[in-house]
Amino acid sequence: MCGIVAYLGKKQAYPLIVDGLRKLEYRGYDSSGVAVLDENLSVFKKKGKVNDLVNFVNKENGDTSGTIAMGHTRWATHGEPNDKNAHPHLSGNGEIALIHNGIIENYATLKNALIDLGHEFKSDTDTEVLVHLIEEIQKKGNLSIEDAVRKSLEKVVGAYAIVVIDKKSPDILIGARNSSPLVFGLGDDEFFLGSDASPIIKYTNKVIYLEDEDVITINRNGDYKIVNLQNKTSTHQIKELDLKIEELEKGGFDHFMLKEIYQQPATIEQSMRGRINAAEGWAILGGMSKHMNRISKSKRIILMACGTSWHSALIGEYLFEEIARIPTEVEYASEFRYRNPIITEDDFVIALSQSGETADTLAAIELAKEKGAFVYGIVNVVGSSIARLTDAGSYIHAGPEIGVASTKAFTSQVSILSLMALYLGHERGKISGGDYRELLTALEVIPQKVEEILDQNDHIKSIATEIKNASNALYLGRGYNFPVALEGALKLKEISYIHAEGYPAAEMKHGPIALIDMYMPVVVIATNQSAYEKIVSNIQEVKARKGIVIAIINEDDTIIREMADFFVEIPTTAEPLSPLLSVIPLQLLSYHIALMRGCNVDQPRNLAKSVTVE
Ligand code: GLU
Repeated sequence: MCGIVAYLGKKQAYPLIVDGLRKLEYRGYDSSGVAVLDENLSVFKKKGKVNDLVNFVNKENGDTSGTIAMGHTRWATHGEPNDKNAHPHLSGNGEIALIHNGIIENYATLKNALIDLGHEFKSDTDTEVLVHLIEEIQKKGNLSIEDAVRKSLEKVVGAYAIVVIDKKSPDILIGARNSSPLVFGLGDDEFFLGSDASPIIKYTNKVIYLEDEDVITINRNGDYKIVNLQNKTSTHQIKELDLKIEELEKGGFDHFMLKEIYQQPATIEQSMRGRINAAEGWAILGGMSKHMNRISKSKRIILMACGTSWHSALIGEYLFEEIARIPTEVEYASEFRYRNPIITEDDFVIALSQSGETADTLAAIELAKEKGAFVYGIVNVVGSSIARLTDAGSYIHAGPEIGVASTKAFTSQVSILSLMALYLGHERGKISGGDYRELLTALEVIPQKVEEILDQNDHIKSIATEIKNASNALYLGRGYNFPVALEGALKLKEISYIHAEGYPAAEMKHGPIALIDMYMPVVVIATNQSAYEKIVSNIQEVKARKGIVIAIINEDDTIIREMADFFVEIPTTAEPLSPLLSVIPLQLLSYHIALMRGCNVDQPRNLAKSVTVE
């Protein structure tokens, strides 16, 4: 959440910062702002999108010249989204500017102490205390800006990635992080800081991922120094990024979400590349094989995640228990960490996060590691905090996911979980040779089958037309497709703002059935080979109350197609893999409904990508 970008070099910085902010906008879009340092330190900030900021700067004819600058796009935590709460924030003397991603948890105590010392605050944010604190500490100790930043951070409790510019030090850019991501990009005579590599990759692929409690001082002459809060120098490896600029563009699609939905045949394939060969009869994940001895002896698997990744994790529970026969639990990372969970060295903990920066998941991993569990990461963003913190892991290789509502990351996570379960089940001798080969073969052809579903986009769009005005919707599924029902409901809520609930189909009669009337669309995932008759009964129960049934069925279905008001046919596959197919029409349905309701599908209200705050 929240995007940070900063530049120090020879070029005019403002256009680069604006360009970077557009790339980062998916991380927050409550407001944006820039600070540019030339003779003067100029700050422009505006509620709304980056375009609103640019229009404001143009209208004001603002002085944007300068070769050192920084920009911020905000996802508000403290203080409503308005101009005054937008970042950058300035010190009382107007000489220090600061941008921040995260939450300063002890901001109230610090703020009161600073007010007693005569500081005046202009915003309602937690962030503003930082810049006043730096000013105070600098003044009191007659310190350099880098020492003042470091000493201030010693007093801070909470999560932060910050960038600081000081008018008195026009050749220096300072950054620091704790729990929120910050990447340092090293170009030719130019340097960048970013929340992620997206604003940097156009200029350089050389980066350093900063670690918690790192403070970096970058000098215009190319020297840079990274120290920890105790002022001890730390050395970091320069990494070469394998990210192409086209991956950050819409590539001819109207929205990132649609592009990402359509990428799924390729991204699922990518997630499996080199990890499966059905003809030869194997599935292997490099991250697991080195540790298989320990993993295969695990007494329990705990899957931890938030949001859409939590739905993938639920599918993982079905997969691991059925195929690898290891008791499996699924946890919301945020709940897990605060309830004194019982974890032992016999646990195999798997953390799932698209961004690899999810704050709650990171904290839960730390807890699990402390208790001696072996922790495995399933993440998308290479080099992210979770990828670095876990004992081992597998990247899902889905490429940048920019649409705030997750789509391709979900299917790639499920594909990795399927591979993991197969690998583990085979190693433990819990799956028969026949079933193993059958599932491997079925998994390998999933991408082609996804392609067939995407070909039905127009049909799915026509169903969207019929239900776009609903105020509520119910999603039902059983077994492997119960988590898909949850995910379908979440997609609809996130981008169309229609209230939707996912439910295990059989549970409907214990409550949600009370909501059903002739206005209620009920999306039923009815592809399961097992419990098919039960689903038929559930659909009858909905029909008897005049609900509008939209069924996701298999091509060979003969019964439900006669009962449903609308149906989408999807190819048949082995039941454990059916979520990889059944979720696709639900993604498209939400996309079209949201669009028809005039919603911003890529940047839904109140949400942002990469949840780096608790
Ligand atoms: N807590 C800060 C604010 O509300 C920063 C939020 C963010 O990460 O965008 O302004």
